[in-house]
Amino acid sequence: MEKENKLETMRHSLSHVMAQAVLELFPEARLGIGPAIEEGFYYDFDLGEKSFGPNDLKEIEKKMKKIISGNQKFEKYEEDIKKAIAYIKKKKQPYKHELARDLEKEGETKLSFYRMVALNGKKKFIDLCKGPHVASTKEIGKNRRRVLEG
Ligand SMILES: [Zn+2]
Repeated sequence: MEKENKLETMRHSLSHVMAQAVLELFPEARLGIGPAIEEGFYYDFDLGEKSFGPNDLKEIEKKMKKIISGNQKFEKYEEDIKKAIAYIKKKKQPYKHELARDLEKEGETKLSFYRMVALNGKKKFIDLCKGPHVASTKEIGKNRRRVLEG
């Protein structure tokens, strides 16, 4: 059971890695949600008129590997909901904005975020998320086969 949860945590963490990779390559991408699922994980992206081609997928994979081997840390922080919503709006992420507004309507007063931090301290991808995640992408690197093959 615990093993199962750990696999799920690694897979879900990979969805953040994928989102970071996609945003680095396609800054205009709009993010949906990215949960772990039975067979792995996914993340919804909206590229407007565009869609990912086979070459794009290769580039995304390459970028993901680079992020993983960079041993980025996952850091959690909380933000007052009004501030959080303003931040998401500024980032021009309409789906996240909608999600945050829904949480506000449900009575949440704070939202939790995870930011990925590179070894040199540079803040990378930030996402609205409850977690949990691995502490570092190092854990994904070590378990790569198991994460991808189950
Ligand atoms: Zn997450």
